Amino acid sequence: MLKFKFILGTAFGILGILLICEPFVYVSVWWYVLLFLALFWVILIGSFSMSWGLFLKAFTHNSSIKEKKIAITFDDGPNDIFTPKVLQLLKDYNAKTTFFCVGKQINKHPELLKNIYAEGHVIGNHSSTHSTTIGFKSTEEWLDEIKKTDQAIFKVLNHKPDLFRPPYGVTTPHLAKAIKVTGHKVIGWNIRPYDMAIKNQKNVLNRITKQIKPGAVILLHDKHERIEIVLEQLLQFLKKQDYQMVTINELMNEK
Ligand SMILES: [Zn+2]
Repeated sequence: MLKFKFILGTAFGILGILLICEPFVYVSVWWYVLLFLALFWVILIGSFSMSWGLFLKAFTHNSSIKEKKIAITFDDGPNDIFTPKVLQLLKDYNAKTTFFCVGKQINKHPELLKNIYAEGHVIGNHSSTHSTTIGFKSTEEWLDEIKKTDQAIFKVLNHKPDLFRPPYGVTTPHLAKAIKVTGHKVIGWNIRPYDMAIKNQKNVLNRITKQIKPGAVILLHDKHERIEIVLEQLLQFLKKQDYQMVTINELMNEK
């Protein structure tokens, strides 16, 4: 929120200077339009870029890590068709990862959540509804989204998650206020291959492999038919490169 307040303060400062100058010099209306547009764009881009940390602090990667360690993350599950396939591959390649699960999916497939946890992966909260309009929610509504999923996870695993990833990577002042209450660590990513949108798995894999470096966090989804082949090829690539696939917690705690 500090960054956001600083940007807002700067914008109001410039507005004040323009208003003070107006009686003495000609100030074109376009300066006001420009100021408004600049503020609008900064807020819009900042809302979708967790690495900016405009409204809240998020972990997106670990740049200080020296060892070849990376974190693969899966969003939007558990999914009854694809999550079991993903789990089998992760077992075959001895990879530990992090699953950001959606509350309504957990309620449908609690046994899958148990399996994910039993395999040694970390489970994070990814909202309850994953609604397309989640970015417009109030603080109270965000709290409801987060708490419902915490409760769904607690019901199955008897412990609450301490990681939260906002759907679509969208952050807002309302979410920042909700996170202050719940105390979750907010997790983003620094490699986003758009595995849901790009239908060609080779392109998806290329987008990942050309950005791989120690400390990276990769965003994938365990809910589409291309995930199996993309993940298998990614795991093969990482194994060849001597990378260790670790959970977000392990990556965060590395100095
Ligand atoms: Zn998602």
